Amino acid sequence: MLIMPMQLSDTMNFMHQVASRFSFDGQVALSRFERLADVLLDQAGQVSVGLEFGMSIGYASLKGQIVADLQLECQRCMQPMPLAINNRFKFAFIHDETEIDSVPGLFEPYLITGDEQSIINLLEDEILLVLPMVARHEQACSDYMTKQRERVRAEKQASHPFSALKALKVAKE
Ligand SMILES: [Zn+2]
Repeated sequence: MLIMPMQLSDTMNFMHQVASRFSFDGQVALSRFERLADVLLDQAGQVSVGLEFGMSIGYASLKGQIVADLQLECQRCMQPMPLAINNRFKFAFIHDETEIDSVPGLFEPYLITGDEQSIINLLEDEILLVLPMVARHEQACSDYMTKQRERVRAEKQASHPFSALKALKVAKE
């Protein structure tokens, strides 16, 4: 019986993992993804990671899933912006760049170099891939923006002598 490792190591030999049909189903601390430090407002928390090394469609492959609740910073109102990610990925391992074109579309080619490969790097790339280029609240921004707009409107009305009274009334409500 295979014993599931509690901790996912940073690097591993992907081809050995394919041979032993290594699988992982567990948590990886967000703080282990160094490149995410610049993007996330809060690096506390975990990413749920599922990994399955094996053979598919004639390729040594890795199928996986990442699920996490991230805290980004909205670039418009500078308030926290929660983002739930749930991303599946399929990699086909290749040993030469000339093989890239022959990898079927559902799989991403992954070039194996050296003895060990970084699984943390691979997962981090997958997380970065699903993050928005610029983080912004989808609909109206948070209360901050609403208040900002109300303030601007009130100032505009105040500069109009006839609407000054109305603005005053609105402000009092
Ligand atoms: Zn916002």
